[in-house]
Amino acid sequence: MSKETSDNIFKLLGKEIAPGQSEYLEMEVAKLHTRNNIRIPIIVERSKKSGPIVLLMGGLHGDEVNGIAIVRKVIKEKLNKPIRGTIICIPVFNVFGYLSLTREFPDGRDLNRVFPGSSKGSLASQFAYQFTTNIAPLVDYILDFHTGGADRENFPQVRCVVTEKKTMELAKIFGAPFILDSKYIPKSVRETTHKMGKALLLYEGGKSKSLDDSVIEIGVKGAANVLRHLKVISGSTSVNEPIVVKKSKWLRAAYSGMFHLKVKNGAFIEKGSIMGIISDVYGDFDKMVRAPIDCYVLCVNTTPIVNKGDALFHVSVESDRAD
Ligand SMILES: [Zn+2]
Repeated sequence: MSKETSDNIFKLLGKEIAPGQSEYLEMEVAKLHTRNNIRIPIIVERSKKSGPIVLLMGGLHGDEVNGIAIVRKVIKEKLNKPIRGTIICIPVFNVFGYLSLTREFPDGRDLNRVFPGSSKGSLASQFAYQFTTNIAPLVDYILDFHTGGADRENFPQVRCVVTEKKTMELAKIFGAPFILDSKYIPKSVRETTHKMGKALLLYEGGKSKSLDDSVIEIGVKGAANVLRHLKVISGSTSVNEPIVVKKSKWLRAAYSGMFHLKVKNGAFIEKGSIMGIISDVYGDFDKMVRAPIDCYVLCVNTTPIVNKGDALFHVSVESDRAD
């Protein structure tokens, strides 16, 4: 139970925010050797009525710009104005990575592998610690927006542990085409906040360094669905029945060469169908990549060149319609 739900006192980063108030805050996360302070803008909107506290965040990986664009659009469309409870938006979590369009922090670390962080740790770890101690304890629900890494393009999907009732309910309401069963990754923000008793839903769509309108649209609609379901904003939810993927796997390149993609992301592919072709650059061979099973395509690698062992496709192994 959050502070808001229990006594309606809400204090974030030392600032008391009264019911009905909007606040623009900056979380100071680090001081650079250039003597510049790094501050993360946080936009807080409180309703006069008490209710759940929901956090929306993008750009945990700085090059995953679709996530940043989703939170931006939620703010732009005023979907972050609650009729009860509180909505906190952090559009750009990892400002370092965003500025240089890189996944990692300047210290080379992946921010999403250093949670809960430490005040005496690396730059990324200090950053994570600020979040874990100052923001996470206050919130009830978190929507965390991501994309595939490098050239791997994820078809819009939400990830959670499908046997956990609370997050699975949110996943269905979100309404992305796929729900993927996904175990907790050690030291991720999802694992840390789960241990704190928070419900976090992770959305994945598109690829890094790339804006995709349909991915952004599904993300914004999903966020609105969850907020409406929690009765934090008004309106009714509209959801297409998602496909729940209980088991999935990666198909990897058996050869190195030029990679020609032959399937549409999100499509259902029958066993034996050609999914891609790997070609020798000197014309020696063209090797077909065939579907080993009937499967949905959850992610495609859009790179023009692959090395043996590279991940080409993420596909479903066991899937079902949500009930
Ligand atoms: Zn990510």
